[in-house]
Amino acid sequence: MTTSASSSTGPQDIAVGGDDAVIDRLVEANARYAEAFTDPGMDARPVRQVAVVACMDARLDLHKALGLRLGDCHTIRNAGGVVTDDVIRSLTISQRALGTRSVVLIHHTGCGMETVTEDFRHDLEMEVGQRPSWAVEAFRDVDQDVRQSIQRVRTSPFLLHADDVRGFVFDVRTGRLREIHPAGKEA
Ligand SMILES: [Zn+2]
Repeated sequence: MTTSASSSTGPQDIAVGGDDAVIDRLVEANARYAEAFTDPGMDARPVRQVAVVACMDARLDLHKALGLRLGDCHTIRNAGGVVTDDVIRSLTISQRALGTRSVVLIHHTGCGMETVTEDFRHDLEMEVGQRPSWAVEAFRDVDQDVRQSIQRVRTSPFLLHADDVRGFVFDVRTGRLREIHPAGKEA
């Protein structure tokens, strides 16, 4: 940790705003982590046989929020926590090669994907002269997007276990999960 001798700044000054050497800080932090690290002796199969698909949002600490420990689960994250083909790829490997049986889907309040539109794709094409092969997967209604994600998992032909799939919205202000029930099912 770099600490400043100046009274106007403190140890936290590297935590706010840009830090050109951010990756150096991460590597330093890893050196300290590794000093205290002991081999947990686990294999690659998640202990609790669960895969969590969640948004990449920086405010969502999945392990703490769900009481998970090292080795408990697979964590698959992307912008929005959207079930894309690549998420299905990871879930398929998670279930078929590494023994998971349950899937938890987590979106959250205040998601950046609610402020993006499909114009993003068009604007990107205008700027770089090439249309991305991927869909932006922006959404307006987070509950509806969780339902769609549940549906994509449930209907995937590649997964072995599609019965224990549940979806939630994490409230970034309260830390609480709210369950979203699939279309056609009352709470
Ligand atoms: Zn998000």
